[in-house]
Amino acid sequence: RAKAEGRNVYRFFEPGMDAAFIARNQLEADLQVAARERGFALAYQPIVSLETGRVGGFEALMRWPHPTRGMVSPAEFIPLAEETGLIVQMGDWALREACAEAAAWPSDLRLAVNVSAVQFERAGLERSVVEALESSGLAPSRLELEITESVLMQDAVGVVSALMRLRALGVRIALDDFGTGYSSLSYLRRFPFNKIKIDRSFITEIEDPEVAEIVRAIVGLGQRSGASITAEGVETARQLEAVRALGCTEVQGFHFSGPLAPAAARDFIATDLALPRPRRIGRA
Ligand code: C2E
Ligand code: MG
Ligand code: MG
Ligand code: MG
Repeated sequence: RAKAEGRNVYRFFEPGMDAAFIARNQLEADLQVAARERGFALAYQPIVSLETGRVGGFEALMRWPHPTRGMVSPAEFIPLAEETGLIVQMGDWALREACAEAAAWPSDLRLAVNVSAVQFERAGLERSVVEALESSGLAPSRLELEITESVLMQDAVGVVSALMRLRALGVRIALDDFGTGYSSLSYLRRFPFNKIKIDRSFITEIEDPEVAEIVRAIVGLGQRSGASITAEGVETARQLEAVRALGCTEVQGFHFSGPLAPAAARDFIATDLALPRPRRIGRA
């Protein structure tokens, strides 16, 4: 009897599971086609410097205009691209495309590109970076690679030396989504990051005094290690004021702008951000 019941339960769920499986396979097949035909786009989100009160650069974020499903979220296709290894060629394309776009911006603006742990596992990332810089003419110091803790969780020695070689090229390295992992603090000791990006989940709760204390501590850590600190996901004027008071040097978030199409990003560079008078740096 139990067996019969189990079978019924199984039957009841089977069609749904099947549908999910088929949908995933279809998405994977579509992703393969898109990767081959370069069917992706990049959006550029402004990163505002609180030291200058101006746009300091943009983060390139991948978009997938799917032929029938509309825009697919990176939250959905990036993990799939990582599982299948397609992220390697997609990442190479993103590097080249973004560097070519950034070369047309004023030369004091930086470009940030996300790099997946899978790209570090395969040989060739360094060469892709060099090729993207050379073909675009973008100065290495204007390129910043954003990595997450998952990169450092792998074989630490190989990854750290790969990161060191990238830094030796003049490229900057940022630690993305800081504070979301299991042992964020220990990773700060493994590599001299140029930038720490505090995860949006902290900024959302920045008005909670305990969260503010954590952010203050992260800012202190960053300052001692020479890293600049970016607050991710700043959506309101209050959050902006809070992260500024805590010493964050850059902000990114919907308060200023979400990710923009390339032409809109270029227009944004000239926009008056209506920031309060920038804090003075050093002595007058
Ligand atoms: P991320 O690198 O942490 O990028 C920031 C994400 O937060 C972006 O989501 C951005 O649109 C979103 N965001 C920015 N400001 C706000 C805000 O004020 N409020 C809210 N609610 N969200 C905000 P997006 O574009 O959906 O990308 C999600 C993630 O996908 C990225 O997180 C990154 O991990 C990954 N990703 C995107 N493009 C690439 C890529 O080219 N390569 C790799 N490896 N990963 C990528
Ligand atoms: Mg990022
Ligand atoms: Mg992030
Ligand atoms: Mg994130």
